[in-house]
Amino acid sequence: MNAEKKKKIVKTIRVDVDKCNGCRACEVICSAFHATPKYSSSNPERSRIRVIYEPLRDMFVPVYAGEYTAAECAGRDKYTIDGKAYDECAFCRASCPSRSLFKEPDSGLPLKCDMCESEPPLAEPMCVQWCLNDALVYEEREEEVEEGEERGELDVGLESLVNRFSLQQLQDSVSRMVKKGLQRNKAKE
Ligand code: SF4
Ligand code: SF4
Repeated sequence: MNAEKKKKIVKTIRVDVDKCNGCRACEVICSAFHATPKYSSSNPERSRIRVIYEPLRDMFVPVYAGEYTAAECAGRDKYTIDGKAYDECAFCRASCPSRSLFKEPDSGLPLKCDMCESEPPLAEPMCVQWCLNDALVYEEREEEVEEGEERGELDVGLESLVNRFSLQQLQDSVSRMVKKGLQRNKAKE
């Protein structure tokens, strides 16, 4: 049976590499916007956009974090730009086991660009607003997607924890936390 389709606004950021001067303002504001509490700290390692530097051509390539993948891909992308071959993982958007890019430095949990979803909604994502060179341009388009196809940050984070430890360990750990929480609440009564 075919899954139900629904219309969805797809948000994307168009990257114009030629306009990027490597100022890294996008990294700074992304990590600050997602800090807890908001704007309390800024650490590019926590940013969901990273600016990759290619020294031979003095070129900067902003790459924003895409989906988490539990396994390294079998066939990796290769890029040739102006006749020069680039590292096969350099511009990949995935958080994956083979590198530290797009992983929260303390927990190792995957980072994914959420287009700065917030309440009230922003007119444009923060990195786009802070890019004074117009290297990042926000775009929206309507697409049909299957119901239940989207996964939230919680699902993605839990899946990566299960892959790293095991479902059993995760369940045991959550049970211990719940027990501790109940004991604390009881002590307060
Ligand atoms: S803010 Fe814009 S110009 Fe600066 S590094 Fe990011 S994408 Fe490049
Ligand atoms: S859209 Fe928001 S979450 Fe995504 S890279 Fe830009 S600042 Fe970070």
